[in-house]
Amino acid sequence: MIDERSAKNIATLKPEVQPLATRLVEIAQARGINAKVISGHRSYEEQNELYAQGRSKPGQIVTKAKGGQSWHNFGLAFDIGIFSPDSKTYYGESASYAEVGKIGEAIGLEWGGNWEFTDEPHFQFNPKGYTLAQMREKTEEGKSLFT
Ligand SMILES: [Zn+2]
Repeated sequence: MIDERSAKNIATLKPEVQPLATRLVEIAQARGINAKVISGHRSYEEQNELYAQGRSKPGQIVTKAKGGQSWHNFGLAFDIGIFSPDSKTYYGESASYAEVGKIGEAIGLEWGGNWEFTDEPHFQFNPKGYTLAQMREKTEEGKSLFT
């Protein structure tokens, strides 16, 4: 059984990505890692709000991406969080991120931990290797992002 928070975030993802996110959490949990999906799809508006944080609005900068520039805007990406066994404590840093990263790669996901600008909590599914520009175009044209 997957936790409620993960289930809610997974439900925002593209149908093709949902089973992979579910499997990732299930395998991690089975290995004793309390991983949850803490972020899924974000609309362009939500992304612009996030981009404003630390720039035109108070707070720390949390993203380099404006609306349409993040894999989250297409329902292809999700972020995990590692928690203590009782789920009361969130760990922003933990060796378990790399462990879950390996699991993700083994089931066909791309892991942000391998990027030049490391993003260990981040996973995405882009089997055709499309660029963000192609994703924007396909979305506007109502085409599949997976074929
Ligand atoms: Zn992410």
